[in-house]
Amino acid sequence: MSSIFSKIISGDIPSMKVFESGSALAFLDISPVCKGHTLVIPKKEVENIFELDESEYVGLMEGIKETALILRDKLGADGINIFSSSGSAAGQTVMHLHFHLLPRFDGDGLKTNIHDNPVLELDLMELHKTIMN
Ligand code: 5GP
Repeated sequence: MSSIFSKIISGDIPSMKVFESGSALAFLDISPVCKGHTLVIPKKEVENIFELDESEYVGLMEGIKETALILRDKLGADGINIFSSSGSAAGQTVMHLHFHLLPRFDGDGLKTNIHDNPVLELDLMELHKTIMN
């Protein structure tokens, strides 16, 4: 499915590129939530993780790793969060697979911690059976 990111890949819409390879592109998010907030996308039009072809895994992961190193080294980040949402239920708003790279700095207070959510009382044995059946 074509999205605004296809126009970024083609250059019809400008972006601030951080990294580019034959298969992946990284550019600054237009609405950053932290210093260096960057998106890494496959150059191929892929809607979400469910649609990603095996032949694209390595190139995309290399793009994520290279971009993480650039952000760490150029910005002096102490750590990095990597997030991706697939499907609107998960919060995906642009329907082209993308990974958010969020450089982290000691004590920056950015709210990304899954442990900010309450722990649910689930029957894990039952859930595990469902997943494994
Ligand atoms: P999602 O909500 O799907 O996880 O993330 C989509 C991200 O794409 C958002 O963080 C949003 O700021 C970013 N975004 C949307 N349109 C553009 C654009 O035209 N240029 C850039 N650089 N980022 C965009």
